[in-house]
Amino acid sequence: MKALIVIDYTVDFVTGKLPVGEPAIAIEDAIVKLVKQFLNNGDAVVMAVDLHEENDPDHPESKLFPPHNIRGTEGRRLYGKLDELYESRKASIMWMDKTRYSAFHGTGLDAWLTERGIRELHLVGVCTDICILHTAVDAYNKGYHIVVHQPAVASFNAAGHDWALDHFRGTLGAEVIEE
Ligand code: ZN
Repeated sequence: MKALIVIDYTVDFVTGKLPVGEPAIAIEDAIVKLVKQFLNNGDAVVMAVDLHEENDPDHPESKLFPPHNIRGTEGRRLYGKLDELYESRKASIMWMDKTRYSAFHGTGLDAWLTERGIRELHLVGVCTDICILHTAVDAYNKGYHIVVHQPAVASFNAAGHDWALDHFRGTLGAEVIEE
């Protein structure tokens, strides 16, 4: 069994408070298609979603980014068609809050995957060079096989996006699927 990990594809990260913008809007259909594919095959789908509290000066991101993905706000909803798909297939999709870049940090993700015997992780969402990267590094260190779907990852930083794709391939032994 394999798992699709959809990282941070929320309103705030696509068009909201900390927006990737056009490159993130452009991957909407590719993400939705993969989620449907995984669900139809009976494979696991996890929404790994950034969670912040309002006025949290001690969080390391507070010095780096404007407030985003605040608990209970519309910005933390999944974006567009992915939100609709999630609402209709909720029972088959695992929602996992995360408070750091990596979907593994401080979450039950590793235990959840291990319980199900899942060793192959497919990564999609944003940003290629931040949360996807940190999740991929943790997955690598935990011995998972990593697959990154290039048409379903995006960043506001084009150079960082390209660098990260090379890093996945060359350093983390990931399979990067180009179409
Ligand atoms: Zn954040």
